[in-house]
Amino acid sequence: GLARVHNGRRYRLGVMGGTFDPIHHGHLVAASEVAARFDLDEVVFVPTGVPWQKKGRKVSQAEDRYLMTVIATASNPSFSVSRVDIDRPGDTYTVDTLKDLRRERGSDVDLFFITGADALSHILTWRGAEELFDLAHFIGVSRPGVPLGAKDISHLPAEKVTLLEVPAMAISSTDCRQRVGEDMPIWYLVPDGIVQYINKRGLYHDNININPEDH
Ligand code: ATP
Ligand code: MG
Repeated sequence: GLARVHNGRRYRLGVMGGTFDPIHHGHLVAASEVAARFDLDEVVFVPTGVPWQKKGRKVSQAEDRYLMTVIATASNPSFSVSRVDIDRPGDTYTVDTLKDLRRERGSDVDLFFITGADALSHILTWRGAEELFDLAHFIGVSRPGVPLGAKDISHLPAEKVTLLEVPAMAISSTDCRQRVGEDMPIWYLVPDGIVQYINKRGLYHDNININPEDH
């Protein structure tokens, strides 16, 4: 594995949870930007198991989402992928993700959970919200059309939450799926290997109008 201690300081691990159905350049740019700004040693991408917020639509098999995440991150030595959420039975909750990673990586690692600024404002409704801030620092990245400060995060502990603007990329997985269903190109919205994987596995081609989500 990677060295634990760099120049005598604690190892800084970013955690990027997502459905990744499919992973796209918005995810990768956000992870790269947060890694640079927060001096992270590594960002681990964690594809969700059963995404309880998305039960309204058909989500691709965990193994396809996992493999796409591996393909998209393979060339970056600071990016890795974890199976903790897809291997844990039942719904995925962030508190379990963070506990599992802490168990795997040890107590001498600082966790930085990366999420959309929109999702961050709902954080106190997540299961185990009381424990979350003991487990990680939270970084809310702004997405296109979601200006920083538009969402009220004043109820969250200031020293545990940071908002960060990332180069805005108007890319979402919903849009990528819809484009595949409409025979529109997704080249350059996702890594080349993801275009090829989607075609090889025939993903999203039967994508009729699903409820596009706002995040
Ligand atoms: P969907 O359209 O199906 O909701 P998505 O594009 O939002 O998919 P997710 O897998 O739900 O992708 O996102 C994982 C995380 O990445 C979330 O915290 C989300 O806010 C963030 N994210 C998604 N797209 C972008 C983007 N273009 N720029 C920055 N962050 C993003
Ligand atoms: Mg989303």
